[in-house]
Order: sequence, then structure tokens, then C-alpha cells
Amino acid sequence: MANLGITKYGSEVLRKVAEPVEEINDEIRQIVADMLETMYASEGVGIAAPQIGISKRIIIVDVEPSDQSSKPIVLINPEIVEKDGEMNAEEGCLSVPEVRGDVKRAENVVVEGIDLEGNKIRIEGTELLARAFQHEIDHINGTLFVDHLSRIKKQLIKNKLHKIEKGES
Ligand SMILES: [Zn+2]
Repeated sequence: MANLGITKYGSEVLRKVAEPVEEINDEIRQIVADMLETMYASEGVGIAAPQIGISKRIIIVDVEPSDQSSKPIVLINPEIVEKDGEMNAEEGCLSVPEVRGDVKRAENVVVEGIDLEGNKIRIEGTELLARAFQHEIDHINGTLFVDHLSRIKKQLIKNKLHKIEKGES
């Protein structure tokens, strides 16, 4: 396993629609292992493959990383199949360091995908878990949380984003 470091705002891979996974093989298992290590090393609650530079539809969510009994949810080719409610809360992203802002998301979602063993899974998420799913699934569609911020907030963080893009942050 390797902690590959996080791909930052400005990288092209973060803006691509990631490719679906066709087959779960050693390559995919290695990507997941690298994603896990990178997520925990960065103290994130979620990670998507493009964040380690890999344009594939894989996400991991663990909203309680400090809880030893909590298991990370690995989802391959995830899709939101149901959502309802609305909730505004502050978000950040490992790929956009030191930037935070309020994002409106669905309060509850149902996500379907495939686990590492190839089983089809369906998970209901509420609040933080729902938010994490939506944030990570955005990543594999080339969307970042800053895209959802208000126009004023976008203006306020413009210089900061520019610095990250230039590798100065
Ligand atoms: Zn993110």
C-alpha cells in the first residue's frame, strides 16, 4: 500500500467524468488499498479515486474514522438512486485545502453500487453519511464542492483557489 498524496484543485483528473470499473481485479483492489491509506493519512472522511489521480468510479466513505469499529464503505460504480430532504452544512475537501463553505445537499440518499467482492449493495445514508456520499459521487463526475458555493463565496475564495492551482498552497 502506498499513501499517494492527494490530487489538488486545478488537476485535470478532478474535472473528468471517471470511467466505470468493468472488472474487480488486483489492480482495483490495489487502488482501493491506496485510497484507504491516503484517506486515513489525510484524516478525511471520504475519498474518490480521482483524488489519487485515478479516473475510475470508486469511492470510500468512513464518517467515523477514529472509531475502530466503524468500517469504511467501499463503493464501486456508485449511483444515487433516491434522495429527499434538503440540508445546508459546511464542507471541505482534501483536494481543496483550507477552503470551507456551505453546500446545500439532500438530507437522505439511497446509494447503489458494488462492493470489493463484486456484490451489489444498497445503502441508505442520512445527514453526514448522505453528505459524504453526495460529495464523493460528485468527485467521480468531475464536480467539486466549491462549484456549489454561492457566487459571493466563490468570489471570496478566488485567490485561494488560484494559489492551490499554482501549487502555492
Ligand atoms: Zn472532496
